[in-house]
Amino acid sequence: MKKVVIIGGGFSGIYALRELAKQSDIKITIIDKHPYHNLQPEVYDLIANKSNISDVTIDLPSLCAGLHHSYLEFKNLRVTSIDFQTQNIFTQEDEIVTYDYLILAMGTRTLFPTSIEGLNNTDDIKKLHKALFFKQSFETQLFNKVSDEAKKCDKTQIVVVGAGLSGVEIAAEMANYAKQFFERGNFICDNLKISLISSGDTILSGFHKKIVQMSNDRLKDLKIDIITNAKMTSSDEEFLYLSNGTHIRYSFIVFAGGIEASNLSTKLNLSKNKKNQIIVNGYLQTKEYPNVFAIGDIAQIKNKEGQIMPANVTVAKISAKCAAHNIVNSIKDKELKVCDPKLEGTLIALGGRYAVCDLYGIVQVKGFIGYLIKQFVFLRYKLPLLRIIKNGHKKLTM
Ligand SMILES: Cc1cc2nc3c(=O)[nH]c(=O)nc-3n(C[C@H](O)[C@H](O)[C@H](O)COP(=O)(O)OP(=O)(O)OC[C@H]3O[C@@H](n4cnc5c(N)ncnc54)[C@H](O)[C@@H]3O)c2cc1C
Repeated sequence: MKKVVIIGGGFSGIYALRELAKQSDIKITIIDKHPYHNLQPEVYDLIANKSNISDVTIDLPSLCAGLHHSYLEFKNLRVTSIDFQTQNIFTQEDEIVTYDYLILAMGTRTLFPTSIEGLNNTDDIKKLHKALFFKQSFETQLFNKVSDEAKKCDKTQIVVVGAGLSGVEIAAEMANYAKQFFERGNFICDNLKISLISSGDTILSGFHKKIVQMSNDRLKDLKIDIITNAKMTSSDEEFLYLSNGTHIRYSFIVFAGGIEASNLSTKLNLSKNKKNQIIVNGYLQTKEYPNVFAIGDIAQIKNKEGQIMPANVTVAKISAKCAAHNIVNSIKDKELKVCDPKLEGTLIALGGRYAVCDLYGIVQVKGFIGYLIKQFVFLRYKLPLLRIIKNGHKKLTM
């Protein structure tokens, strides 16, 4: 019986797992350094106190148990290196895992360019424990405002660096949350300002013009100060310095200036691009090893026209399903399928019950309807997983 190992239990790893689990005659091992799948697109709800940790995580042991596959195991290990010749995976915990077929699905991390001094003063929300820390810092800032009411009520300044999807969403969610906080408590010292720094002419560079305009209008309504054509050059304990010669006194900084491939990718002897994403062919096989596939954010994935796809959940899903199909067909000596991801659109959460959606580049929607569409899309992903983990949990605790 052939053994397939998946490294990474994020969006792409789980899609691949569910596809492979339909085959009863293969062994499957899924490895993740965390025992949970972090629902990254929902982290804003956590920061804005709309949800808690159990709402933004999927338990991986319960998920695996709930798939009712006789030869499926989850291993909570951190992979440190891979020997592709001997097909051995090495881990921090000193356990060695072997494979016949391997799927690399380790995702990305926030890119902290070495050219910017003082990035140790910034927060990163991609990792769950850092998002939690950030949420607490944010709440502390709000509480300080309440405590300060009878005194000076100095300005509190939050700076979000990077006006791509993550930067825009986090700035909007914080601004909306703070607005409601001051209104609900009738607090007077609402002197909290959020600045969003964009290196381009606009926010959300590369997105549909109408989406940029709608998002810009919403951020302005939320009183976010948008600073364009400026890059963070450095920061010290007090100030953040910009390439346009100005500086901002900050209370804290969120850095959302870009992504690069997971740390493990840098150590692998495989062809990679500048972001250390693994280069794959149309079947999602690595250039060097036909039994090693890469999917989701960790891979540089192209459509049939040769365009590089952005790192998002849609591409994670399509690539995962295609790689799983190709592994099953390789085992059965059947023809492989070329992966051709097509984007369904963009959904941008902009604070509270407000979102902007671009559906297939044809229709753009904003406001509460946009929010309902975004909710629907994520529930469509999450609800089936919740059903599986409920069954898995029953099985594990019987
Ligand atoms: C704040 C935020 C908001 C987002 N919002 C959206 C959105 O609205 N819509 C959208 O489409 N996309 C959104 N994205 C992007 C989306 O989350 C990613 O495209 C998606 O998570 C990619 O899935 P993946 O499986 O490739 O990687 P991930 O989901 O990151 O999973 C990678 C997994 O690999 C594991 N791993 C990494 N290294 C190792 C190792 N050495 N050993 C063992 N395990 C390892 C990690 O623990 C993780 O579980 C957002 C991202 C962020 C950060």
